[in-house]
This record gives sequence, structure tokens and C-alpha cells, in this order.
Amino acid sequence: MAQAKVHILTTGGTIASRSDAPMVDGPQLVQAVPRLLDYAEISVEEFSKIGSSKMKPENWLNLAQRIQEIIQEKPDLASIIITHGTDTMEETAFFLNLVAKTEIPIVIVGSMRSSNEISADGPANLLNAVRVSISEQARGKGVLVVLNENISAGRDLLKMNNRRVETFEANSLGYLGFADPDTIIFYRTPTKPHTIQSDFNLQNIAQFSKIDIVQDFAGFDPEILELLGQRDIDGLVISSFAGGRMSYGMLEGLEKLKNRNFPIVIASSVRGGRIIGKPYADQGWIISPDLPANKARILLMLALTNDHDKKEIQQIFDTY
Ligand code: ASP
Repeated sequence: MAQAKVHILTTGGTIASRSDAPMVDGPQLVQAVPRLLDYAEISVEEFSKIGSSKMKPENWLNLAQRIQEIIQEKPDLASIIITHGTDTMEETAFFLNLVAKTEIPIVIVGSMRSSNEISADGPANLLNAVRVSISEQARGKGVLVVLNENISAGRDLLKMNNRRVETFEANSLGYLGFADPDTIIFYRTPTKPHTIQSDFNLQNIAQFSKIDIVQDFAGFDPEILELLGQRDIDGLVISSFAGGRMSYGMLEGLEKLKNRNFPIVIASSVRGGRIIGKPYADQGWIISPDLPANKARILLMLALTNDHDKKEIQQIFDTY
């Protein structure tokens, strides 16, 4: 029987790293796991060779455009794998989950241990990513992330540990399924719109708007927002306390930004659960019910690729 065709795009990260040598090239990374060939016919392409803390929105855009080209070039492709650092994996996954116009599985994979460490997790993660990507159940579930035998939804995963191989959790929503040795098993399916169901289009993105994120803290100095108000930005995300609550200083600073009229999104820095209701509707501030600040920034960037008023932006946050 002909094997499924899988295209692997490598971007860098710990999965491509050794602590004693430079990052390996894409093809080398894949050749180090010969068992991949038991499952699929593999093609490899090095997209970049960077730590994911160095990723920028331009890289996401190029990656998304490259994915669309690959799908055109290889119509019989079963899936696409992206190897990526874990630091910003949740951001790349969320972005692609909203803009990639395809039903074929896109699976992002990385590792927490470099390849020269004992019990490096990269090879097993890559093998599992390929197994998940060619599973019939992975189709139509949006962008997925596979790490430590767990399958996460691109929208939901969050990096929760600096070191451990089980770093990804999904905002108390849990995993979609598991890449177990005997089988790939899914228990749930994402319900929020993604990929072909999403309204966002790469064609609309000529340039990303500039959105800043500000973290609240006890005793926040409103001068921080006064200084930020001098920047030429298109929107702002506040990473608030639980439930969207903010310090006196943050509230005072936001009051002074009123004349700027750009969208202000309140996200919670507490990972888990939602901001209940619309606590600042009378101020015109938008609530990100459960997306943390980094993902709220991405959604706002995408929302601003179209002409939307604040009410419509709130609807987008309630939908995605
Ligand atoms: N330095 C890494 C990165 O590129 C961390 C990792 O991949 O786990 O994000």
C-alpha cells in the first residue's frame, strides 16, 4: 500500500538543538528518526533555524503562506508537520489555527530536552506527531500540537513549565487525545472556529497592526501607560488579575488613554477559567474571556485586518 505523504517544515527550537553544537539542519533533524519511514513518505524543508523566542509575526505570516503554497504544490499530501521551539509554540499554533485554509492536519511539534541530553524527547515527539497527523481522526480538528504523547488543540495549549517534558497544558480544558504506543486516540474535538471555518484570511494581511501588551501588578504606576500612550500603536492588551480585575494605577492609566481611541482588550493573566460577563462594557474596553494576553494580541491583530468597530471586535473575542 502506498504510504501517506507528510511534509515536514523545520523552524528550529530545542528539538533541533544540542547544547554543545550549533542547531542541526532540517534534513538532519528528520534523518535522525529513521522510524518515521515506517509510517510515511517524508519530505523535509528547512523554513528557519531559530529559537522560537525569536519568532515574529512576519515569520508566522511567511509560514502560513508557505503552508498554502505547499498544499497547492502537493495536492496528495496527507499532512504537514512543523518542528518548532516551545517558547512561542502556543502563539504560532494559535495564529495558524486561525488562518491556515486547509482540512489536512497541521501538527506542530517540539521538545523540551536537546538531542544530546539523556532521554531526549524530540525523536519520540516527532514520530508521534507524524502518527497523529496521518490518523483519520486528526482531520478537520485545526492545528494540533503533539508533545509528551499528548495531543493539544492549537487554540488552547499553554506552556506551563520551564523544564519538564509535560510542559503543555490546555487552560484546564484538557488534551484532545493521546499518541499512545498502540494507537492514536482522540476523545474530544475543538468547537471554536478554526482553519477553513475561520473568517480570517491571509490575503487581507498586508501588514500587522502594532499591539502592545502590559502586565498589571500590585501598585502599578499609571505613568507606564502615559509613556506607552506616546507610542504609535493600534491597540493594547492588558494582562489583568483574575476576573479582569485591575489595580488603581492601571485603571487611572487607562482613563488617560481614552482620547487615543484604539481598542483596549482586557485578558486575564490567570490561566484557567474565564473572565465572567463584560465588566468594562461602559468603558468600551473589550474582554478576552479566556485567551491569555499573548493570544489575545494575535486575535486583535487579525481582527484589525478588517474594519471592525469595538462591538464587532468583542463579538470576535466571544466567537474565537
Ligand atoms: N529554546 C527553545 C525555543 O526555541 C525552547 C524549546 O524549544 O523548548 O523555544
